[in-house]
Amino acid sequence: MNILVAGPQGSGKTTQAKILADKIGACFIGTGDLLREFANGESNDARHIKERMGKGELVDNLVVAGLVKDKLARPECQSGVVTDGYPRNFSQHETYDPGFDKVIYLDISDEEAMKRLLARGREDDTPEAIRERLELYHEETKPLLEAYQDSGKLVRVDGARPVEEIASDIEESVKGSRGGI
Ligand code: AMP
Repeated sequence: MNILVAGPQGSGKTTQAKILADKIGACFIGTGDLLREFANGESNDARHIKERMGKGELVDNLVVAGLVKDKLARPECQSGVVTDGYPRNFSQHETYDPGFDKVIYLDISDEEAMKRLLARGREDDTPEAIRERLELYHEETKPLLEAYQDSGKLVRVDGARPVEEIASDIEESVKGSRGGI
């Protein structure tokens, strides 16, 4: 089973995607984590990634799609994956579609997202980069989520609650769709 956990930055999608992957014995694919790992190298791609991430801009489609594709092909990912952060827009969806059975949408307000991200204090969490990422989310990711909704794959979950509560809601909805884990 392939599941996408989506939502604005700061919605807790990485945390929830990791918890869910653990619970259902699937492999976790997080583009933020994958890119941060890759950005440590000295290649042109690494430099490109570092620069884009620092500004809160999206990394080149083919670079991200390549990383996701490679991870999906690994043996430990053959029984199912929980993905966080890809695709972020229609263009990425067209470049490479991992084929999701279900999309979990973690819903939080921009104010809450900004508050959480500033508190998190990651290197790319400057107020400008956060604003840029939230803007991109509304312009590009939201319409993609609406398309998933139209195809009946989207489950909205209120993301402004304790981690365990959200995790148990997500587990329920995933269980329901495949008749038990
Ligand atoms: P995240 O950890 O999901 O907040 O992502 C951090 C940064 O990684 C983003 O601001 C982008 O620069 C980059 N990134 C993550 N996922 C993608 C993606 N699917 N496509 C392009 N860039 C991405």
